[in-house]
Amino acid sequence: MIKSSIKKILRATDSIVQKNTGQHRVDSPGLLILTFHGTFERSQDAYCGDVDPQQAITIAHLREAIESMLEAGYSFVGTDSVRYLEPSRHWTMLTFDDGLATNQLVLPLLEEFQIPGVFFVCTGHVEHQKAFWWDVVYRNRKRQGVSDSAIAEEVKELKLLRMNEIEQRLRDDFGPRAMRVLGDLDRAMTVTELKKFASSPWVRIGNHTRDHAILTVLSPGEIEEQVVSAQDSLEAWIGLRPTTIAYPNGNSSPEIRSQMRSLGLLQGQTVRALKSSLPIHDLYALPRVTLWGQRSIQDQLQEARCGVSLIETLRR
Ligand SMILES: [Zn+2]
Repeated sequence: MIKSSIKKILRATDSIVQKNTGQHRVDSPGLLILTFHGTFERSQDAYCGDVDPQQAITIAHLREAIESMLEAGYSFVGTDSVRYLEPSRHWTMLTFDDGLATNQLVLPLLEEFQIPGVFFVCTGHVEHQKAFWWDVVYRNRKRQGVSDSAIAEEVKELKLLRMNEIEQRLRDDFGPRAMRVLGDLDRAMTVTELKKFASSPWVRIGNHTRDHAILTVLSPGEIEEQVVSAQDSLEAWIGLRPTTIAYPNGNSSPEIRSQMRSLGLLQGQTVRALKSSLPIHDLYALPRVTLWGQRSIQDQLQEARCGVSLIETLRR
Protein backbone atom coordinates (compact mmCIF):
# COMPACT_ATOMS: atom_id res chain seq x y z
CA MET A 1 0.00 0.00 0.00
CA ILE A 2 2.73 2.44 1.08
CA LYS A 3 4.87 1.33 -1.84
CA SER A 4 2.11 2.04 -4.33
CA SER A 5 1.51 5.51 -2.81
CA ILE A 6 5.21 6.30 -3.13
CA LYS A 7 5.15 5.12 -6.73
CA LYS A 8 2.18 7.40 -7.41
CA ILE A 9 4.05 10.39 -5.94
CA LEU A 10 7.19 9.58 -7.97
CA ARG A 11 5.15 9.27 -11.13
CA ALA A 12 3.43 12.60 -10.53
CA THR A 13 6.82 14.20 -9.76
CA ASP A 14 8.25 12.75 -12.98
CA SER A 15 5.46 14.39 -14.96
CA ILE A 16 5.87 17.76 -13.22
CA VAL A 17 9.66 17.75 -13.60
CA GLN A 18 9.37 16.98 -17.28
CA LYS A 19 6.72 19.62 -17.90
CA ASN A 20 8.53 22.36 -15.98
CA THR A 21 12.10 21.73 -17.02
CA GLY A 22 11.28 21.32 -20.68
CA GLN A 23 12.89 17.89 -20.57
CA HIS A 24 9.96 16.55 -22.52
CA ARG A 25 11.52 18.21 -25.55
CA VAL A 26 14.62 16.01 -25.25
CA ASP A 27 13.62 12.99 -27.25
CA SER A 28 16.95 11.44 -28.13
CA PRO A 29 17.35 8.74 -30.81
CA GLY A 30 16.96 5.16 -29.69
CA LEU A 31 14.59 2.21 -29.44
CA LEU A 32 11.48 2.45 -27.30
CA ILE A 33 9.75 -0.93 -26.89
CA LEU A 34 6.16 -0.79 -25.69
CA THR A 35 4.46 -3.69 -23.87
CA PHE A 36 0.82 -4.69 -23.72
CA HIS A 37 -1.14 -7.73 -22.49
CA GLY A 38 -4.89 -8.07 -23.07
CA THR A 39 -6.20 -5.69 -25.75
CA PHE A 40 -9.89 -5.12 -25.17
CA GLU A 41 -12.48 -3.87 -27.59
CA ARG A 42 -14.23 -1.85 -24.86
CA SER A 43 -12.90 -0.76 -21.50
CA GLN A 44 -15.86 -2.40 -19.69
CA ASP A 45 -14.55 -5.76 -20.96
CA ALA A 46 -11.42 -5.26 -18.85
CA TYR A 47 -13.57 -4.63 -15.78
CA CYS A 48 -16.15 -7.40 -16.34
CA GLY A 49 -14.86 -9.30 -13.29
CA ASP A 50 -13.69 -12.41 -15.17
CA VAL A 51 -10.15 -11.12 -15.71
CA ASP A 52 -7.60 -9.12 -13.79
CA PRO A 53 -7.94 -5.78 -15.64
CA GLN A 54 -4.15 -5.23 -15.41
CA GLN A 55 -3.42 -2.30 -17.77
CA ALA A 56 -7.00 -2.28 -19.20
CA ILE A 57 -5.72 -1.34 -22.65
CA THR A 58 -8.34 -0.94 -25.36
CA ILE A 59 -7.93 -0.90 -29.12
CA ALA A 60 -8.62 2.86 -28.96
CA HIS A 61 -5.67 3.30 -26.54
CA LEU A 62 -3.50 1.34 -28.90
CA ARG A 63 -4.52 3.47 -31.88
CA GLU A 64 -3.70 6.57 -29.83
CA ALA A 65 -0.25 5.16 -28.98
CA ILE A 66 0.53 4.28 -32.61
CA GLU A 67 -0.55 7.69 -33.88
CA SER A 68 1.41 9.46 -31.16
CA MET A 69 4.61 7.55 -31.95
CA LEU A 70 4.24 8.17 -35.69
CA GLU A 71 3.66 11.87 -35.04
CA ALA A 72 6.82 11.98 -32.91
CA GLY A 73 8.79 10.61 -35.87
CA TYR A 74 9.26 7.03 -34.69
CA SER A 75 9.46 4.07 -37.09
CA PHE A 76 8.02 0.71 -36.06
CA VAL A 77 10.22 -2.38 -36.17
CA GLY A 78 9.95 -6.11 -35.43
CA THR A 79 12.55 -8.07 -33.48
CA ASP A 80 14.75 -9.15 -36.38
CA SER A 81 16.14 -5.72 -37.25
CA VAL A 82 17.03 -4.64 -33.68
CA ARG A 83 20.76 -5.28 -34.03
CA TYR A 84 20.96 -3.31 -37.28
CA LEU A 85 19.02 -0.16 -36.34
CA GLU A 86 20.43 3.14 -37.59
CA PRO A 87 21.63 4.80 -34.30
CA SER A 88 20.68 8.35 -35.23
CA ARG A 89 16.98 7.61 -35.68
CA HIS A 90 13.93 7.00 -33.46
CA TRP A 91 12.55 3.47 -33.37
CA THR A 92 9.71 1.77 -31.57
CA MET A 93 8.30 -1.75 -31.25
CA LEU A 94 4.86 -2.94 -30.19
CA THR A 95 4.98 -6.09 -28.05
CA PHE A 96 2.11 -8.12 -26.60
CA ASP A 97 2.65 -10.74 -23.90
CA ASP A 98 0.87 -14.03 -23.13
CA GLY A 99 -0.73 -14.85 -26.53
CA LEU A 100 -4.23 -13.79 -25.51
CA ALA A 101 -7.18 -14.26 -27.86
CA THR A 102 -8.00 -10.54 -27.54
CA ASN A 103 -4.70 -9.76 -29.29
CA GLN A 104 -6.35 -10.82 -32.55
CA LEU A 105 -8.20 -7.49 -32.38
CA VAL A 106 -4.85 -5.75 -32.92
CA LEU A 107 -4.36 -7.12 -36.45
CA PRO A 108 -6.64 -4.63 -38.28
CA LEU A 109 -4.61 -1.78 -36.70
CA LEU A 110 -1.30 -3.31 -37.80
CA GLU A 111 -2.70 -3.72 -41.31
CA GLU A 112 -4.09 -0.18 -41.39
CA PHE A 113 -0.80 1.41 -40.33
CA GLN A 114 1.33 -1.25 -42.05
CA ILE A 115 3.48 -1.81 -38.97
CA PRO A 116 4.71 -5.01 -37.29
CA GLY A 117 3.60 -6.27 -33.87
CA VAL A 118 5.46 -8.86 -31.78
CA PHE A 119 3.38 -11.38 -29.83
CA PHE A 120 4.98 -13.45 -27.06
CA VAL A 121 3.04 -16.66 -26.63
CA CYS A 122 2.69 -19.16 -23.75
CA THR A 123 2.30 -22.39 -25.70
CA GLY A 124 0.84 -24.45 -22.83
CA HIS A 125 -2.08 -22.03 -22.57
CA VAL A 126 -2.62 -22.17 -26.33
CA GLU A 127 -2.53 -25.95 -26.40
CA HIS A 128 -4.60 -26.67 -23.30
CA GLN A 129 -6.85 -23.57 -23.27
CA LYS A 130 -6.44 -23.15 -19.53
CA ALA A 131 -6.88 -19.83 -17.74
CA PHE A 132 -3.99 -17.64 -16.61
CA TRP A 133 -3.60 -18.13 -12.89
CA TRP A 134 -3.67 -14.43 -11.95
CA ASP A 135 -7.12 -14.13 -13.55
CA VAL A 136 -8.29 -17.11 -11.49
CA VAL A 137 -7.03 -15.47 -8.28
CA TYR A 138 -8.55 -12.11 -9.21
CA ARG A 139 -12.06 -13.27 -10.12
CA ASN A 140 -12.44 -15.61 -7.17
CA ARG A 141 -11.05 -13.21 -4.57
CA LYS A 142 -13.12 -10.33 -5.98
CA ARG A 143 -16.25 -12.44 -5.56
CA GLN A 144 -15.21 -13.03 -1.95
CA GLY A 145 -14.97 -9.26 -1.44
CA VAL A 146 -11.18 -9.23 -1.03
CA SER A 147 -9.51 -5.83 -1.62
CA ASP A 148 -7.36 -5.11 -4.68
CA SER A 149 -4.28 -4.58 -2.51
CA ALA A 150 -4.77 -7.94 -0.73
CA ILE A 151 -5.20 -9.65 -4.12
CA ALA A 152 -2.00 -7.97 -5.38
CA GLU A 153 -0.18 -9.24 -2.27
CA GLU A 154 -1.40 -12.80 -2.86
CA VAL A 155 -0.35 -12.65 -6.54
CA LYS A 156 3.10 -11.45 -5.49
CA GLU A 157 3.50 -14.40 -3.09
CA LEU A 158 2.29 -16.92 -5.67
CA LYS A 159 4.92 -15.71 -8.14
CA LEU A 160 7.56 -17.34 -5.93
CA LEU A 161 6.10 -20.79 -6.63
CA ARG A 162 6.35 -23.15 -9.61
CA MET A 163 3.40 -23.32 -11.98
CA ASN A 164 2.15 -26.75 -10.82
CA GLU A 165 2.30 -25.55 -7.20
CA ILE A 166 0.31 -22.41 -8.03
CA GLU A 167 -2.33 -24.33 -9.93
CA GLN A 168 -2.65 -26.95 -7.18
CA ARG A 169 -3.14 -24.23 -4.60
CA LEU A 170 -5.82 -22.56 -6.73
CA ARG A 171 -7.66 -25.86 -7.20
CA ASP A 172 -7.48 -26.46 -3.45
CA ASP A 173 -8.86 -22.97 -2.77
CA PHE A 174 -11.40 -22.58 -5.57
CA GLY A 175 -12.33 -26.10 -6.68
CA PRO A 176 -11.14 -28.67 -9.24
CA ARG A 177 -12.29 -26.63 -12.25
CA ALA A 178 -10.67 -23.39 -11.12
CA MET A 179 -8.28 -23.23 -14.09
CA ARG A 180 -10.99 -23.41 -16.77
CA VAL A 181 -11.41 -20.44 -19.11
CA LEU A 182 -14.68 -18.51 -18.96
CA GLY A 183 -14.77 -16.99 -22.45
CA ASP A 184 -12.94 -15.00 -25.10
CA LEU A 185 -11.57 -12.40 -22.66
CA ASP A 186 -9.54 -14.73 -20.44
CA ARG A 187 -8.27 -17.32 -22.89
CA ALA A 188 -5.18 -17.67 -25.07
CA MET A 189 -5.56 -18.04 -28.82
CA THR A 190 -6.26 -21.60 -29.95
CA VAL A 191 -3.70 -23.41 -32.13
CA THR A 192 -5.89 -22.79 -35.19
CA GLU A 193 -6.25 -19.08 -34.39
CA LEU A 194 -2.54 -18.71 -33.74
CA LYS A 195 -1.62 -20.35 -37.06
CA LYS A 196 -3.92 -17.99 -38.97
CA PHE A 197 -2.80 -14.94 -36.95
CA ALA A 198 0.90 -15.73 -37.44
CA SER A 199 0.43 -16.02 -41.20
CA SER A 200 -0.09 -12.23 -41.42
CA PRO A 201 3.01 -10.41 -42.70
CA TRP A 202 2.58 -7.91 -39.82
CA VAL A 203 2.69 -10.51 -37.02
CA ARG A 204 5.90 -11.76 -35.39
CA ILE A 205 5.75 -14.53 -32.80
CA GLY A 206 8.07 -14.82 -29.79
CA ASN A 207 8.60 -17.20 -26.86
CA HIS A 208 6.97 -16.50 -23.46
CA THR A 209 7.72 -20.03 -22.10
CA ARG A 210 5.29 -22.93 -22.07
CA ASP A 211 3.55 -22.13 -18.77
CA HIS A 212 4.34 -18.45 -18.16
CA ALA A 213 7.11 -19.74 -15.93
CA ILE A 214 9.00 -17.14 -13.90
CA LEU A 215 12.47 -18.35 -14.80
CA THR A 216 14.27 -17.04 -11.71
CA VAL A 217 12.46 -19.59 -9.47
CA LEU A 218 13.43 -22.57 -11.66
CA SER A 219 16.51 -24.80 -11.98
CA PRO A 220 18.52 -24.63 -15.25
CA GLY A 221 16.94 -27.95 -16.32
CA GLU A 222 13.43 -26.67 -15.68
CA ILE A 223 14.22 -23.43 -17.53
CA GLU A 224 15.42 -25.37 -20.54
CA GLU A 225 12.27 -27.49 -20.55
CA GLN A 226 10.00 -24.40 -20.40
CA VAL A 227 11.83 -22.51 -23.13
CA VAL A 228 12.63 -25.34 -25.54
CA SER A 229 9.17 -26.87 -25.35
CA ALA A 230 7.67 -23.48 -26.30
CA GLN A 231 10.19 -23.16 -29.17
CA ASP A 232 9.30 -26.65 -30.42
CA SER A 233 5.53 -26.07 -30.30
CA LEU A 234 5.76 -22.69 -32.01
CA GLU A 235 7.98 -24.07 -34.74
CA ALA A 236 5.56 -26.97 -35.29
CA TRP A 237 2.54 -24.62 -35.45
CA ILE A 238 3.85 -21.65 -37.43
CA GLY A 239 6.86 -23.08 -39.25
CA LEU A 240 9.36 -20.66 -37.70
CA ARG A 241 11.54 -20.99 -34.60
CA PRO A 242 11.31 -17.74 -32.60
CA THR A 243 14.49 -15.70 -32.08
CA THR A 244 13.25 -13.74 -29.07
CA ILE A 245 11.92 -14.44 -25.59
CA ALA A 246 10.02 -12.08 -23.32
CA TYR A 247 10.87 -13.25 -19.80
CA PRO A 248 7.59 -13.86 -17.90
CA ASN A 249 7.16 -11.12 -15.29
CA GLY A 250 10.35 -9.62 -16.78
CA ASN A 251 12.51 -11.77 -14.49
CA SER A 252 15.95 -12.88 -15.66
CA SER A 253 19.52 -13.09 -14.34
CA PRO A 254 22.99 -13.10 -15.96
CA GLU A 255 22.94 -16.93 -15.84
CA ILE A 256 19.48 -17.11 -17.44
CA ARG A 257 20.47 -14.64 -20.15
CA SER A 258 23.54 -16.68 -21.04
CA GLN A 259 21.43 -19.85 -21.01
CA MET A 260 19.05 -18.22 -23.53
CA ARG A 261 22.04 -17.63 -25.81
CA SER A 262 23.08 -21.27 -25.52
CA LEU A 263 19.51 -22.38 -26.32
CA GLY A 264 19.74 -20.51 -29.63
CA LEU A 265 17.70 -17.41 -28.80
CA LEU A 266 19.08 -14.10 -30.08
CA GLN A 267 17.23 -11.63 -27.85
CA GLY A 268 15.50 -11.34 -24.48
CA GLN A 269 13.03 -8.68 -23.37
CA THR A 270 12.57 -7.53 -19.77
CA VAL A 271 10.09 -5.09 -18.20
CA ARG A 272 12.59 -2.44 -17.08
CA ALA A 273 10.83 0.76 -18.11
CA LEU A 274 13.53 2.45 -20.18
CA LYS A 275 14.26 3.49 -23.74
CA SER A 276 17.41 1.91 -25.25
CA SER A 277 20.16 4.00 -26.77
CA LEU A 278 21.76 2.55 -29.90
CA PRO A 279 23.55 0.37 -30.63
CA ILE A 280 22.00 -1.94 -28.05
CA HIS A 281 24.63 -3.14 -25.58
CA ASP A 282 22.80 -6.24 -24.30
CA LEU A 283 20.33 -7.89 -26.65
CA TYR A 284 19.30 -10.31 -23.87
CA ALA A 285 18.15 -7.56 -21.50
CA LEU A 286 16.10 -5.25 -23.71
CA PRO A 287 14.02 -2.85 -21.62
CA ARG A 288 10.32 -2.26 -22.35
CA VAL A 289 7.79 0.30 -21.20
CA THR A 290 4.32 -0.88 -20.15
CA LEU A 291 1.46 1.49 -20.97
CA TRP A 292 -1.57 1.80 -18.67
CA GLY A 293 -5.11 2.53 -19.88
CA GLN A 294 -5.86 4.19 -16.53
CA ARG A 295 -3.44 7.07 -17.26
CA SER A 296 -3.07 9.44 -20.19
CA ILE A 297 -1.40 7.56 -23.04
CA GLN A 298 0.10 10.81 -24.35
CA ASP A 299 1.69 11.65 -20.97
CA GLN A 300 3.12 8.15 -20.57
CA LEU A 301 4.60 8.16 -24.07
CA GLN A 302 6.09 11.59 -23.56
CA GLU A 303 7.77 10.40 -20.36
CA ALA A 304 9.00 7.23 -22.04
CA ARG A 305 10.36 9.06 -25.08
CA CYS A 306 12.24 11.62 -23.05
CA GLY A 307 13.61 8.90 -20.78
CA VAL A 308 13.66 10.76 -17.44
CA SER A 309 12.09 8.77 -14.65
CA LEU A 310 12.59 9.05 -10.89
CA ILE A 311 11.13 5.57 -10.49
CA GLU A 312 13.78 4.06 -12.77
CA THR A 313 16.53 6.23 -11.33
CA LEU A 314 15.75 4.89 -7.84
CA ARG A 315 15.64 1.30 -9.07
CA ARG A 316 19.16 1.48 -10.51
ZN1 LIG B 1 3.32 -12.52 -19.40
